[in-house]
Amino acid sequence: MVMTAPRRPLELRAFDEPRPAVGGAVLETVASEVCGTDVHLHHGRLGGVPYPIIPGHVSCGRVLETGGTLHDVEGQAIAPGQLVTFYDVFGICGSCWHCLVAKAGTRCPHRRVYGITTSADEGLLGGWAERIELKPGVRIVPLPPGLSVEDFMGGGCGLPTGFHAVARAGIELGDTVVIQGSGPVGLNAAIFAQLRGAARVFVVGAPQARLEVALGLGAEGVLDLGLVPRAEDRVAWVRDRTSGRGADVVVEASGNPAAVLEGLEMVRDAGRYVVVGQYTDAGDVTLNPHRHLNRRHVTLLGCWGYEYTHLHRSLAMMAKHRGRFRWAEMITRSYGLDGAGQALADMEKLAVVKAIIRP
Ligand SMILES: [Zn+2]
Ligand SMILES: [Zn+2]
Repeated sequence: MVMTAPRRPLELRAFDEPRPAVGGAVLETVASEVCGTDVHLHHGRLGGVPYPIIPGHVSCGRVLETGGTLHDVEGQAIAPGQLVTFYDVFGICGSCWHCLVAKAGTRCPHRRVYGITTSADEGLLGGWAERIELKPGVRIVPLPPGLSVEDFMGGGCGLPTGFHAVARAGIELGDTVVIQGSGPVGLNAAIFAQLRGAARVFVVGAPQARLEVALGLGAEGVLDLGLVPRAEDRVAWVRDRTSGRGADVVVEASGNPAAVLEGLEMVRDAGRYVVVGQYTDAGDVTLNPHRHLNRRHVTLLGCWGYEYTHLHRSLAMMAKHRGRFRWAEMITRSYGLDGAGQALADMEKLAVVKAIIRP
C-alpha cells in the first residue's frame, strides 16, 4: 500500500518478490501499525519524506529467508519461520560526531526509518505490505517467548518511545507523575512510569475511551480535555492533587504546542519535564523564562526517537509484565491492506487507540 504524496489517496501496487541481500532478510508481514506519525505523513507534516513511501514503521513478521546466517544481539541465530520484529531505524553510522562525541544516536544525520524516510522506489521498506525487506545491518529482534503479535503491536512504536521518555525523566521511587496525552506514547509512558517507581500517575487527555484505558493501566486519575477546556483549570486540577506544589515529573505526549506551557505550570519547583510528543512542527508558544524555567528551577528535556536499547529493554519489560498491563487490548481494530485509508481516517478522528494492518 503506497502513499504516493501528501493528501492523495493510498494506492495498492504490485512489487516483485524480494530476495534478501547478503546480511539482510525478507519477512512475511504479520502485522504493522498505524500510528499518529502515519497521519502526519499523509498530511505532509514531516520534512524530508521521500514520497512515494510504503508506511508502517513498527511491524512483526515471519522470517522467510535470510542472506547468510544472521544473529540477534544475544548471539542466537535467526531461523526461517521465526516470529520477529526489528529495530525500524537503520543507518546510524557509529562514526560521526553525533554518534561518537555526543553519543546521541537518534540525532545521527545518517539515521533512516522504515516507512518514514524510505522510498517505495527502493523496495519494500515499510510494513503496509505482504513482505518487508530487511537491509543488511537492520537489527532483528525475535519476539520473547510468551509474547504474542497482539501484545507487541498493542505497544507499537509507543512502547519504546514511552520507555525512552520515562528513562529521560529520571523518575524516583514514590514520585507523582503527570502524563499529558492519552495516545499510545502517553499510555506507555503511564505504564513505564509505574514500573519505574512512580507512586501516582495522572493522565490528562481525550477522548474518554483512551482515558478509560489509562485508568485500566493503573492511572490514579484522568482529566478529560473535552470536559475541562481551560488550561488554568487543568493546572489547578494537578495542583489540587499535589498539595498545591505540582507534579514531580511531567511527560508531554500530546503533540499540541500549547501543552508545553501548561505542563510547565503543572510541574513542581525543581521538577523534571520531558517533551516527547512534538514529533512534527505544530507551531510556536511563548514562555516566560523567569517564571517557567529559571525561578522554577526546572529541568526541561527533549526526547527524540528511540535507540535499539529502548526497544530491547521495553520488550523485555513487556514480556515480564504483560499479565499486569494488557497491551494487546489497546488494539481497537485490525484492517486489511485495502483498509489502510480507513485506518488512517479512524486514527485521525481518535476513533481507535491502536490500529494495525494485517496484510
Ligand atoms: Zn552517526
Ligand atoms: Zn509509530
